Amino acid sequence: MKINISSVLKNDGAVLPLSGAVEPGTLSYLGNSFTFASPIRVEGRLQSVGGTLELTGSVKGEYTSFCDLCGAPVSGTLAADFDERLSGDLHGCDEECFALNGATLDISGLINTLIWSSLPMKVLCREDCKGLCSVCGCNLNETVCNCKTGPYDPRLAIFGGGEN
Ligand SMILES: [Zn+2]
Ligand SMILES: [Zn+2]
Repeated sequence: MKINISSVLKNDGAVLPLSGAVEPGTLSYLGNSFTFASPIRVEGRLQSVGGTLELTGSVKGEYTSFCDLCGAPVSGTLAADFDERLSGDLHGCDEECFALNGATLDISGLINTLIWSSLPMKVLCREDCKGLCSVCGCNLNETVCNCKTGPYDPRLAIFGGGEN
């Protein structure tokens, strides 16, 4: 996402509204996938204050993912705020987050970092999801099976299979 910041660089105190969108498509994170069917909105403002650029705003988007335990589709909202200070000549700023080419400031790195760090580490269809039966694989939220289920223990599964 690129912004022409020439007006802000020339006039101290000038405010530049930020409005844009990024389309991350499907992101894979911690074994799960997050599909953004519509773009993630980026809204904010850029202001020059005494030679420092103040960049504030937020990103917001809707994703669909899958429950970590039972695999059911789950939709969620990704939302995060940013609040960054850049010295006017961009000395000392994080090069991975910002790139200045002439009067064009590229904040794609910042937005990408923000999106990745805002993805949930855990996705559940509901807080008390019972998951899948470790023996027959049925969805325990929907069915009750007759398997002897306990906490899933892969060692038992290996021994059980070896006896036959
Ligand atoms: Zn679930
Ligand atoms: Zn079962």
